[in-house]
Amino acid sequence: MTENYRVLLYYQYVPIEQGEVFAKQHLAFCKKIGIKGRILVGDEGINGTVSGTYEQTQAYIDEMHQDSRFKDMVFKEDPAEGHAFKKMHVRYRKEIVSLDLEEDINPLELTGAYLDPADFREAMLDENTVVIDARNDYEYDLGHFRGAIRPEIRSFRELPQWIRDNKEQFMEKRVLTYCTGGIRCEKFSGWLVREGFKDVGQLHGGIATYGKDPEVQGDLWDGQMYVFDERIAVPINRKEHVIVGKDWFDGTPCERYCNCGNPYCNRQMLTSEENEHRYLGGCSHECRVHPANRYVVKHQLSTQDVMDRLAAIGESLEATV
Ligand SMILES: [Zn+2]
Repeated sequence: MTENYRVLLYYQYVPIEQGEVFAKQHLAFCKKIGIKGRILVGDEGINGTVSGTYEQTQAYIDEMHQDSRFKDMVFKEDPAEGHAFKKMHVRYRKEIVSLDLEEDINPLELTGAYLDPADFREAMLDENTVVIDARNDYEYDLGHFRGAIRPEIRSFRELPQWIRDNKEQFMEKRVLTYCTGGIRCEKFSGWLVREGFKDVGQLHGGIATYGKDPEVQGDLWDGQMYVFDERIAVPINRKEHVIVGKDWFDGTPCERYCNCGNPYCNRQMLTSEENEHRYLGGCSHECRVHPANRYVVKHQLSTQDVMDRLAAIGESLEATV
């Protein structure tokens, strides 16, 4: 394996006509140059993360910059030891980011003020500021800005309703939002402005850019950043490393992700290798004893093995003791 690989993260809000056709052609192009990853094409723009060798990813960047729609598109780059994806997907969807709004937000027309990393850091320190994490709960749990609010939602679509329910806390404050690469905040911050929030700022370029800024060096970020590829977690704060992730089973500090072994659950949980074995890779008793539990299959455990393992944690095949 060479170290000559890169992971690219990028988006552009720009009208794309005949998105479905574009997506098909784009997939063929990506396959031709040999990159892998996930790209979303919508009527409102493109959002992607791909991996490949330096040459492959550069061919992609160059080709995209040739297209007037994407000529200014910013590519965030991370060095990698190999591909960060197994396959290449290009999917068409009406929206590349969905807040489930009756009347959608077009960030090209309405969005919060862009703050670069240094300004964002300074604004976070202000007493009159609230910082709202615009990502999913499992992303927050691995790492987030110190003191940021974790909306109690399971998906991004639920965010507007959660804000409406908690509006009084934020209305008189300066509101800052952030997400991985910035794409979700473009729409979310625009929505906040439309809702009547007077002072709304968004972290330009997202956490990914913040972590690379030579001045702020990821300061005030605790934990790691969740990414949607095989790396799962990447470091952000280069000054100090505070672990905020907690083991699903015993609450001890943890930054190791694994999926629940039950394929019908698949819950993303932080847990040590030791606890993964102890709990048969299942997030709950039901998942541990589920006939399709991948952990049991992968480790070729016999019924007796499973019973012994369950007994050690006070459970049995029949029910929890
Ligand atoms: Zn589960």
